[in-house]
Amino acid sequence: MAVSDGEHLLVYKELGLVNTVELFKKAVTGGYALPAYNFNNMEQLQAIIQACVETKSPVILQVSAGARKYANQTMLQYMAKGAVEYAKELGCDIPIVLHLDHGDSFEICKSCIESGFSSVMIDGSHLPYDENVALTRKVCEFAHSQKDYVSVEGELGVLAGVEDEVSAEHSNYTQPEEVQDFVKKTGVDSLAISIGTSHGRTKFKPEQCTKTADGVLIPPPLRFDILQEIEKRLPGFPIVLHGSSSVPIEYVKIIEQYGGKMKDSVGIPEEQLRKAAKSAVCKINIDSDGRLAMTAMIRKVFSEKPDEFDPRKYLGPARDELKKLYAHKNQEVLGSAGKA
Ligand SMILES: [Zn+2]
Repeated sequence: MAVSDGEHLLVYKELGLVNTVELFKKAVTGGYALPAYNFNNMEQLQAIIQACVETKSPVILQVSAGARKYANQTMLQYMAKGAVEYAKELGCDIPIVLHLDHGDSFEICKSCIESGFSSVMIDGSHLPYDENVALTRKVCEFAHSQKDYVSVEGELGVLAGVEDEVSAEHSNYTQPEEVQDFVKKTGVDSLAISIGTSHGRTKFKPEQCTKTADGVLIPPPLRFDILQEIEKRLPGFPIVLHGSSSVPIEYVKIIEQYGGKMKDSVGIPEEQLRKAAKSAVCKINIDSDGRLAMTAMIRKVFSEKPDEFDPRKYLGPARDELKKLYAHKNQEVLGSAGKA
């Protein structure tokens, strides 16, 4: 292991990780999607690994640039290695990917690749088309020329909503006419598209939604027509959906019951994600649902046991709830259970 400038240079195979190439092939032909769960602390990582081992699901561990800053790059690579060993100890050597979510520059992608990430996203979706192509191609050339091939996710189309430093006022759907040219020119291994999913907890404005009898907001349906058009042009090519939390009303209610404010929460219904997972969509990103589950449990403990001050007593229940949530997603939404 080479060490320079305080950074630990590592290749992902030394950490026991895999890239996405084989996993996506199996997911596309198998009609399911891989879970891509974001993490930045130990409890989240434990919950992800426990749930994925229990349901025998491969998993993509996602780290945003913000999470990388929060957790520290060196900590992260050893946490990923810890996750690999933990899965084995729990009895199932599931395939684990360490993926950079929304890399916004060549430099951050390079830095992640050199410190053990097996997959990166370069998000040039906010750039003019030709600049997006050039940036994405540059990252692909670097990632693919490593001794161990690092996979790259690109993006076409812009999602609405906020995710860490990524935000867009309005979404622009992916234009199917562009996808073949983009994939050919860049060499990306997978493509994130915009068909109506959205980052964050408030995915749509109330006026965009319909309301159920008990006041739950139902968002406009995903644009499956655009997805089909893309699949037609890129048969068998791995497609990625960002912003795919369902924002479960049970968690919103618990948070509000214990003093939180979660006005206008709305997510993507799980049936629609299930439908997408059966198509060329083979990676589905879920972050907000985990945040809600943890926050709900922590608020509940704080409120019911105001004299409690041992972090394990509120992080523990939060971790257990997270695990339940992820196992449910693997089994009922993504279809990745049993595919490890
Ligand atoms: Zn995203």
